[in-house]
Amino acid sequence: MASISENMQSVCERVAAAARKYGRLPDEIGLLAVSKTWPAACVAEAAAAGQKAFGENYVQEGLAKITELAARRLEWHFIGPLQSNKTRAVAENFDWSHSIDRLKTAERLSEQRPGTLAPLQVCLQVNVSGETTKSGVDPADALPLARRIAALPRLTLRGLMVIPEPEDDFSRQRAAFRCARALFDELKKEGLALDTLSMGMSHDFEAAIAEGSTLVRVGTAIFGERNYK
Ligand SMILES: *Cc1c(COP(=O)(O)O)cnc(C)c1O
Repeated sequence: MASISENMQSVCERVAAAARKYGRLPDEIGLLAVSKTWPAACVAEAAAAGQKAFGENYVQEGLAKITELAARRLEWHFIGPLQSNKTRAVAENFDWSHSIDRLKTAERLSEQRPGTLAPLQVCLQVNVSGETTKSGVDPADALPLARRIAALPRLTLRGLMVIPEPEDDFSRQRAAFRCARALFDELKKEGLALDTLSMGMSHDFEAAIAEGSTLVRVGTAIFGERNYK
């Protein structure tokens, strides 16, 4: 079995190859290592190989790793569904939150973000797969919601996040990401200062890069298959 640092290297090479293939600069595409279910020791191994940004889906699990690895000054992104009663822990401990799809959640995060920290960096989660998934705002409702979120004092709206339905066919993967990209461009044209398109996971990040992703969120290809207990 390949080590985490070997996996990291091969993911970085694949990101760079996809960037070149689709006329992008490798530097435009950030890598978020999704460490959910993996112990702090695995995060430390990826960090030792040069990885700075980590994504977590579960608040308590994320907090434990943030605390344990505090000395390493890593960047922590909350990417899981966020319940109202968990917003404070995210506001106080994470650097980013990608999964905002309701104004209420954004307002709570803004109110609860400590003044001693930089504003929480956030993405609006958009549902580009229609009926089949429940998370994410309908693209038709994204602009007014994005405007309200962008106006909140303790948040910085950075862009959009999408999790399309799993899809094996490359051109269908691209089609879902293309919807997100079109919306991203539209919101920028409307005057929102966005720079982050958070899209692409282990099985589809090449398609996401082809369609303009600026941040791929990769778990399995770095840490291995997850084992949910
Ligand atoms: C788990 C997860 C990922 C990583 O998925 P892999 O298929 O393991 O790369 C990315 N984004 C979100 C929102 C996730 O929940």
